[in-house]
Amino acid sequence: MYIGIGIWNFLFMPYKIAIASGKGGTGKTTVSVNLYKYLSEKLSNNIYLTDCDVEEPNSLLFLNNAVKVSESTATQLIPEIDPEKCTYCGKCADWCEFNALSIIKKAKFAEVNATLCHSCGACSAACNFDAITEHPEPIGKIAEYETGFGGGLTVGRLNIGSPMQTMMIEKTKESIPGNHKVLLFDSPPGTSCPVVETVSDVNYVVLVTEPTPFGFHDLKLMIGLVTEMKLPFGIVINKAGLGNNEVYDYISANNFELLGEIPFSKEYASRYSTGNLLEDIPLVVDTVFRGISERLMQKMEHDERNHHTER
Ligand code: SF4
Ligand code: SF4
Repeated sequence: MYIGIGIWNFLFMPYKIAIASGKGGTGKTTVSVNLYKYLSEKLSNNIYLTDCDVEEPNSLLFLNNAVKVSESTATQLIPEIDPEKCTYCGKCADWCEFNALSIIKKAKFAEVNATLCHSCGACSAACNFDAITEHPEPIGKIAEYETGFGGGLTVGRLNIGSPMQTMMIEKTKESIPGNHKVLLFDSPPGTSCPVVETVSDVNYVVLVTEPTPFGFHDLKLMIGLVTEMKLPFGIVINKAGLGNNEVYDYISANNFELLGEIPFSKEYASRYSTGNLLEDIPLVVDTVFRGISERLMQKMEHDERNHHTER
C-alpha cells in the first residue's frame, strides 16, 4: 500500500527515527542505509540520513554516488585562565563537575584539562575576577553529501582521540540542513551517553539485533534504555537463521513489535564487504526492507493523524 506524503504537509517538526543496536556489528548501518533508500522511494527528498556514529561513521561507504557539498569544523569552547587576573581562589574548580580544573593556591598554579572539559561554562560563571575567557577548539568535522536519491546525508566525524562524542553528535544533529519531513539517525553502538544523545528527541527507535547470545544480551539493554526514555520501538532481526531462538522467544513473550527479519545470506554479506549494499539486492532482502519501510510509513501516518486529532 502506498501512503502519500501529504499527511506531513502541516507538520512543523520532522518525524525522527533512530536506528540503534546495543552492540556493534549487528548490521545497524546496513539497515539505516537501506531504510534511507527504500523510504526515499516513497518520500523522495523529504527523507534525510544523519550518521551519528561519530567515532566510526561508515554509512558513506555504502552510498557510492555520494558527493560532498560542504564541510565545517565542529568546535567546543575551552576556558583559558588569565594568570594576571586569577587569585587562585579555587571557586571555578569547585563548580566544575568534571574535574577539569586544577588550582593550587600556594603554588599559584591554575590549569585546564581540555580533554575533561565539557564546555558547560560553569567556571566562567563562577569566577568573580573575570579571569576566564573561552576559546573554540576543534573536535571534529561535519560534512554534508548529496546521495543521488533522498534528501542527502550528514556525517559527523570526531577527531581521533577526542572524548567529546556526545557533543559531536549534538553538533552534527544541529547542523542538518533544510526542512526534511523525516530524519533518520544512524546511532553509535552501546547504551551510554552518545546513544542517549542520538535518540533523545526521536519519535521512534528501530532496534537492530541478531539471534545470538551477544545480540540478545545487548538487545535487552537497549530495550531497558528506550523503555526508560519512554520511546516507542520496534525490532529488526538481522542475520536471521543464525544462532538460536532466545531473541524470538523474548520478543513474543513481551509482545514487542518485530518489524522484520533479514535472512543471513552469504551473497549479501559479500556485497556488504565490497560496499555494494544497495545494488542487486536479493529478492528476499528487498521484500523485507519494503515491508519494514511500509510499516514505518504506516506508523508515521498514524502518529501524525493522532497529532492532528490532539491539537
Ligand atoms: S575562580 Fe577565577 S580567580 Fe578563582 S581560581 Fe578560578 S579563575 Fe582564578
Ligand atoms: S567549562 Fe565546565 S567542564 Fe569545562 S572546565 Fe569549565 S566548569 Fe569544567
